[in-house]
Amino acid sequence: MNCTQAQHAIQLDLDGELPWLKKRALQRHTARCRTCREAWRQHRAIRQAMGRLAAIGPSCGLTGSKKR
Ligand SMILES: [Zn+2]
Repeated sequence: MNCTQAQHAIQLDLDGELPWLKKRALQRHTARCRTCREAWRQHRAIRQAMGRLAAIGPSCGLTGSKKR
């Protein structure tokens, strides 16, 4: 698994759609690659923060629908 695949796997994992075999490969990669480990950690933190915001209210404007 290279970094591009790892980044993709991270997204799938956060969506809960990463097969365990791929998850094992991702864990092996992040054990060696600090960049992807940090990326995984940050994505997870963002996801958790967004989940908390969604629980508070849907009108926080963080959905990214309006970028301009
Ligand atoms: Zn990597």
